[in-house]
Amino acid sequence: MSIKTGAQYLTSIQDDREVWLRGERVKDVTQAPGIQRGAATLASFLDRQVEPEFEDKLTYVEDGERYSMSFLTPHSTEDVQRRGAAYYQWAKWSNGMFGRTPDYKNASVMAFAAAADFLNQNHSSSAPTNFADNMRNYYHEARQNDYILTHTLVNPQVNAQLAKEGLSSPEVALQVVGENADGIIVNGARLLATLGPSANEIEVFPSTLLKASQENIPYAFAFSLPIASKGLRLVCRDSYDDGKPRFDTPLAARFEEMDAVVIFENVTVPWERVFMYKDPLLCNQAFAETNAVVHMMHQAACGKLAKVEFIVGLLCAMAHASGKDKDLNVKGQIAEAMWAAETIRALIFSAEAQAEQDRWGMFVPKRTPLDTSRNIFPRIYPKLIEAVQLLGSSSLMATPCEADFSGEISADIERYFQLTNLSSRDRVALFRLAHDVSVSGFGSRQVLYERFYFGPPNIMASIYYDLYDKDEMIGRVDNVLNGI
Ligand SMILES: Cc1cc2nc3c(=O)[nH]c(=O)nc-3n(C[C@H](O)[C@H](O)[C@H](O)COP(=O)(O)OP(=O)(O)OC[C@H]3O[C@@H](n4cnc5c(N)ncnc54)[C@H](O)[C@@H]3O)c2cc1C
Repeated sequence: MSIKTGAQYLTSIQDDREVWLRGERVKDVTQAPGIQRGAATLASFLDRQVEPEFEDKLTYVEDGERYSMSFLTPHSTEDVQRRGAAYYQWAKWSNGMFGRTPDYKNASVMAFAAAADFLNQNHSSSAPTNFADNMRNYYHEARQNDYILTHTLVNPQVNAQLAKEGLSSPEVALQVVGENADGIIVNGARLLATLGPSANEIEVFPSTLLKASQENIPYAFAFSLPIASKGLRLVCRDSYDDGKPRFDTPLAARFEEMDAVVIFENVTVPWERVFMYKDPLLCNQAFAETNAVVHMMHQAACGKLAKVEFIVGLLCAMAHASGKDKDLNVKGQIAEAMWAAETIRALIFSAEAQAEQDRWGMFVPKRTPLDTSRNIFPRIYPKLIEAVQLLGSSSLMATPCEADFSGEISADIERYFQLTNLSSRDRVALFRLAHDVSVSGFGSRQVLYERFYFGPPNIMASIYYDLYDKDEMIGRVDNVLNGI
């Protein structure tokens, strides 16, 4: 298959997966209100990959087969840049509002496979399997089938104090409860699989916060499974797509990607799908040492660029609609969003231009600029949304539905909602979009997503501090103090 069509994708998720939404088990996620339109959007993106305009940008050919660009193992700076351009294009289709496009997880699978020998470094468990081969085989399988992957890294917590000490809450955390000739048996829950209900596969990897201790051995593993595995259950939050017309909820009607808590009830993971086992230290180091985290940061930064550019465009359109774009204070507010866009663009450029080969032979963009992007975007995005609210103000509420334009009071609607540069209908459409970005449940979830999807912001900041190349700077302070 290698490049999935939208139709193939939708067929591939019509299986006996166990997805729960609004108190009921979903029979078919491609038909389920609240999930269906997001899956259809993803299907349309898959089809667009091979349109003549995009094919060479979004796919590559190896040994006569065409694959998604995010599976390309980069062997040069140019390869890194090609990957970045593909990430950016994927994100532009949703203006970053469909955060979990498949390239995010593909980036990680590619990197883990390229660095697969890392997984065999400490083969302390007596598992009857070869972890590195498993990862390499999985990469080929995922690439060949163009799997749509989700992932879950975090255990739910009952006792926050335990979590702070790097320990898990045994009542709820996903753990190994047995093993046999077929594989390991796991039981418990995990947070949080964005796109889970409409993915093909789930990667269950360790978070980097697992303390390297004996107590954590049952929690130290990495594996992947089909979503439709026996005993695997997805519990969805409520949907932000409530079936309204696209005019009324322009984002939620298309980009509801859904998040779900994942419950495993004595699920058997075949040995060939196990990538790490019984080694908390190895688990802790895995994302950093394989550089998977850097490739994921690269995908994220390119997606955030598309998103912040969109917010700049939205702010400009809102200001122009009422003629506020002549006001120097408004221009100054929007300029701040423009600086954010240019900052992310410069960070990506810097990271790609400084790409270097790692010890696994793959080219990796420079971590620091991407880590900067990963740390500042969760802080920038809420400010961008605040700017949309401040500029939009009551216009975000002067937003009747599409039905009002053809109802009894349509003449009022046509008259009283006009702005200097926009007809009533165009004004309402624009501000309904701004509402979906900044006020609606969909928009609020976007803010939460940006704050947390890569991990708790304070922990990411402290990792940044630890890794930052600061010794020379501290040395200069010492020099001054020592009179040098
Ligand atoms: C919309 C959304 C989508 C997501 N999608 C995914 C996904 O697809 N896959 C996935 O694996 N995860 C996903 N996540 C989960 C995400 O990884 C977690 O939210 C994140 O790691 C924080 O963990 P937590 O939610 O358990 O919060 P907590 O760990 O409870 O953190 C909340 C706050 O507690 C404080 N805190 C926590 N730990 C410490 C500590 N050790 N020291 C000091 N302070 C601390 C911080 O202030 C932190 O902001 C998603 C989250 C959201 C909101």
